[in-house]
Formats: sequence, structure tokens, C-alpha cells
Amino acid sequence: MLEKLLSNLATPRFGREYIGGTLPGLQSIPMPQKVTLLLNGSANPKEQLLIKEGDAVNTGQKLSLSEEREENGAYVISSVTGTISAIYPFTGDFGRTYTAIDIDTATTETRDEQFNSLKEDPTLETAIAYLSGLPGNPPLALFSNAEKPIRTIIINGLDNDLLVATNQYFVVTEMDNIKTGVEILRKITAVDRIIIVVPRDYVSGIGEIEADIAAVDAQYPEILPHNIIRHILGQEVPAGKNFEDLGIAFFSAEAVASIGEAFESGEIPVTKTLTFIDKRGERTLVEAKIGTPIGDVFKTYSISPKDKDRLIIGGPMRGSCIYSENHPVLPDTDALFVQDESDIARVSDYPCINCGECVRICPARISVNMLIRFLEAGQYESAADQYDLYSCIECGLCSFVCVSKIPIFQYIRLAKYELSRMNTAEATNG
Ligand code: SF4
Ligand code: SF4
Repeated sequence: MLEKLLSNLATPRFGREYIGGTLPGLQSIPMPQKVTLLLNGSANPKEQLLIKEGDAVNTGQKLSLSEEREENGAYVISSVTGTISAIYPFTGDFGRTYTAIDIDTATTETRDEQFNSLKEDPTLETAIAYLSGLPGNPPLALFSNAEKPIRTIIINGLDNDLLVATNQYFVVTEMDNIKTGVEILRKITAVDRIIIVVPRDYVSGIGEIEADIAAVDAQYPEILPHNIIRHILGQEVPAGKNFEDLGIAFFSAEAVASIGEAFESGEIPVTKTLTFIDKRGERTLVEAKIGTPIGDVFKTYSISPKDKDRLIIGGPMRGSCIYSENHPVLPDTDALFVQDESDIARVSDYPCINCGECVRICPARISVNMLIRFLEAGQYESAADQYDLYSCIECGLCSFVCVSKIPIFQYIRLAKYELSRMNTAEATNG
């Protein structure tokens, strides 16, 4: 189906109709029997944990393994009321380590009151201490790094992949909460400028807001953050630099709406909105408690994925495969895509035939045909030094057009992850 959906790919741009168009309807997923919350890092067997199996938790309650970890931002907010039934190690993408907390849900919901008592006087400290795991994952911790002051916030009312409509939904339906979120961000940060980026068609619906409005043509890959910065600020993000190196923080529209809702209501939002894309490419917006197993989304739609179907967290170009229906909906899960076995472009072990398709389509003008040789050989540092690995904006187009079906994009992500691990290890070991 993806091949059919994207069959008019001829240039590095996709039409507007794949991004927005008529927004899909919203479906609520029933309260799950169990949620799984993921905490960064693994528990040390000798550690005296703050939480244990059998503990009762309330909705909106902060959970962490230790006070020290909590102070370092390693906490989650319980999305349900219930009882902790298990705490165990969890391995994510590229072997990232987490601690999973399973909570069996109770029939009656009770709200934790701690945040409510702080809502009248919004501060950055409160936001970092309670709202970092909000739906949309606001990058609040960036503001505590004095070495890289953030001067500009870009609120992204676009979505980072084809067919995904999550942030556009918030721009259309949650503008009041976004406006409150903007006011809060102005109050608690020292930024000079807040810009909200929306598809051109949506500008007239925004009204008064304490932010500059930037209208863009919602074409892929122009909607990716690197390209947005180029279009609206006229700045290139140098290879190997992050947005924060330029003093820029990207917030999703959903994250800003969630900040607004939290301070307005005194309750920490715990429901994630995501775009569900079925095998026919039909889209629905879905609301689910953070931690809901994605299998519950399928149950709601009476879908039973087959063994060889592909389950993708994210959209068709940039998403990552997952291998279990128990995988939880996370604060940054913007989309869930089910691809039928028969539509999956098979990865092959054919070598690169130097056709140049990947080079022609790459918006970052990388010599992808050369880059892939180093990546396949595991020579990541050479790939970065000689073939512009860090100029890649992760659009996924090269993988899509590769005639040898080489999973170039996956190689690129793995290489960047491995290099970041090596750099962290070097920094830690002095
Ligand atoms: S190398 Fe990166 S920027 Fe270029 S096409 Fe591939 S994923 Fe996109
Ligand atoms: S598209 Fe694939 S086969 Fe063609 S040059 Fe690029 S990596 Fe090689």
C-alpha cells in the first residue's frame, strides 16, 4: 500500500494532500487493563528503590526509582490509578535501556494533587519537575543548560512524516490551550521569540496569539525541522550541531497545548493523541492513555495483525518497527502504522549498484552511494568525517528509492546512535 500511496514520487517533494487535507476523526481507546510506563535507565540491583510492586498509585503521580534520579529528570507520570504489578528492564531501539513499570488499572480514578498546588505560580522549575513527560514530550530540560541558552522557541504545528496529522489536529482543535501554553512559556523562559509554524491553509484560524506565525507549504520533506529553520529563520543547521546549539528549541503543538492545559486545569495531561494508519492507508486520530499497549488500539479497530505484517511506531518514511503488541504508547508516539506483509518492500542483500537514485533525491545533497559503503562496513567515524553523515536530516527518502532495497536510513540512524554512545563514553571517561 505504501508503494501505491507514494506512487507519484518523482521529485524530492510530496504533495500537500499526503500531510493534511481533511483531518481524520478522533477515536478514544477504552481504559486499558494495564499500562506500561518507561523510565530512562536501568535499576541497579543494589539500589533502594522508591517504588515497588504492590504500591498503589494515582493518576498524575510522579514515579521514579530514586530521589537522585528524579532530580536528574528520570521520572514518569502515572497515566492511570492502580497498582504497580511489575518493575523490570526493557530494551528499546538500538538497545537503549529503560525500566518498565506495569500498573494494573483500578476501576475508579483518583487524581494526584501535588501539581495542582503549584499551578498558580508557573515556574520553569515546576515545569521541568512535573511536565517533561507530557504528551508531545516538551524539551523543557534544554532550558536548564546555561551553556546553551535558548533564545527562540519554534512550535511545530506540522507533523514529521507522511500521513501523520497529530500536530495539525492540535492546531485546528486546541488553539486555546496552545495560546495558554505560549503565555506560560513566555513567563517561565527567557526566550526572545516564539514562532508557531502551521500549514498555510490554517493561518486564518489562529487569531490573536503571543507568537509570530509562520505559514509554510506542507510538503515533504520541507516540513522536517531542519528545513523549517532554513525557511523561517534563514539559518542552516551546521552538520553535527543540534538545534539547541543555535539557541532554538522545537516544541510540538501537542506539547505546548499540554503545558497550557496543565497550568490551566492543575491536572497533568496523561492522554496521548496519535494518528493511526491502517493497512489501506486510512487514517484516524486516536486518544490513548500513555502506556496503553498498542494491541489495545488494534482491538478497538478489530484488527489482528498477521505474523509478518509490519508494526511501525511513527509514519511510513521515518517510523521504527516494533515487534510486540505490548509495546506501550509513549509521550512521543505521534503515529502508529500497520503495513500489510504484501506491501512491505523487502530488504535485500543486493549490493549497491551505484545507480545514483539516492544521491539525486537526497535533500541534504549527500553522496549517499558512498556513505552507505562506510556504514555497511561499520566505519561510522569515517562516514561522519568524509561523507557528511551528520548533514543527514533523516527524511528516509534514500531508503525509499534505493533499487537494491538497502535499508540506508536504518544504517544512518544506527551510525548516529553508535557515535553518540562513543562520544558520551569518551566524555565520561575523560
Ligand atoms: S541521506 Fe539522510 S537526508 Fe539524504 S535522503 Fe537519506 S535520510 Fe534523507
Ligand atoms: S539507490 Fe541504492 S543502489 Fe542506487 S546508488 Fe543509492 S545505495 Fe546504491
